[in-house]
Amino acid sequence: MINQNNDSETLRILLVEDSEDNVLVMQLYLKKFPYRLDVAENGQVGVDMFKQAKYDLVLMDIQMPIMDGYEATREIRRFEGEQGRSKAPIIAVTAHASEENHRMVLEAGCDDFITKPVPKAKLLEAIQRVAT
Ligand SMILES: [Mg+2]
Repeated sequence: MINQNNDSETLRILLVEDSEDNVLVMQLYLKKFPYRLDVAENGQVGVDMFKQAKYDLVLMDIQMPIMDGYEATREIRRFEGEQGRSKAPIIAVTAHASEENHRMVLEAGCDDFITKPVPKAKLLEAIQRVAT
């Protein structure tokens, strides 16, 4: 789903998330901010959308059908490498806070991770870290 806000100054965020409830929560959290939020419903759609546009930030769910967040992140990093593009920040949004999970998302190429359920303040903090 492509949001129609085309202001070039707007921070463009790609949310890759299969849960409609989680998408609604994120949309609600970010409603009042000048961010353009595009949503992909699984990793494959996320990779395809990433290749079509320039995103300032990717919020990547891990557990998704068709292609999970690890694979989608690796695909995005591979694509950036092929294109000689600088790396877009990717924040994993994961249901598991274990050390093992943390290691796996970083190995896949994510820069950071936040744990579900994501409090609004945590999300805004994570966005601020890459937006400034
Ligand atoms: Mg999921």
